Order: sequence, then C-alpha cells, then structure tokens
Amino acid sequence: MNTERALRFLDLQALVNREIEVYGQASVELADQLTELTDQLTDEEIEYVLEFKTESMKKVNVKALGNQFSIFGNRGNVWSNTAHAYQSGRGNLCGTPALSSNHAAMSGIEEVGCPECLKQIAISGYVQVPLNR
Ligand SMILES: [Zn+2]
Repeated sequence: MNTERALRFLDLQALVNREIEVYGQASVELADQLTELTDQLTDEEIEYVLEFKTESMKKVNVKALGNQFSIFGNRGNVWSNTAHAYQSGRGNLCGTPALSSNHAAMSGIEEVGCPECLKQIAISGYVQVPLNR
C-alpha cells in the first residue's frame, strides 16, 4: 500500500479539477499524468482514496484551523455553501484566487465548504500543503 501515491493521486485530481474550474479544461499533460497514475493504483489504494474523500467531505469551522486562517468566498460561494479556507500570506488552500469582495466573511459564514480546501485540510491535518508540491 503506497500512501504517498494515493495522496499524489488526490493532489493531481485536485489540480485537474481546478484547471477545469478556472480554464474550462485541464492541460493534456496533467490529464495524462492523472490517467497514468490512476492505472497504477492498487485496489487497496483506491479504497484509501475513497475513504479519504469521505473524510474530507466533512465541513470544518474555520476557527478550528487556528488564527492564520479566515473564511473567504464570493457571492457564489455564499449561495452554494462552498466558502474557502484562506491562509494569511498564502491565499485559499485550494489555490482559487481570492479576487472578489469577501462576501462569505461579510455574511458571517464560518464553515469551510469548498471541497478542494477541505481535501487540503484533511491531507495536511490542518496545516497547509501546497497542491503543486
Ligand atoms: Zn477552496
């Protein structure tokens, strides 16, 4: 069981998802890497990935992350309950640029709901891990 490979898969998948979200499509290189890695995963590693995803679906109160973190979200994030975890000096954990007004903070939202931010929180045990490590 190669935990590192399973986590690498989650990272790659997050990168591909982010490119699709930001650019409407993922780069061929990234998509190829993901396909290649997917083929290498053992049943046990796939199970680990799925378990990990279930765990990282649980929403987290931003106050539980410590004082380096705050909530960030645009209007869409407020409506869809997908606010990001914003780390001071770095930005949103998922890498989504924090460009708009912070409607999540203005609305008093405390719950991180962005799936990719939650994934990063779950991977790192509340410590930031860059996606592109
Ligand atoms: Zn996020």
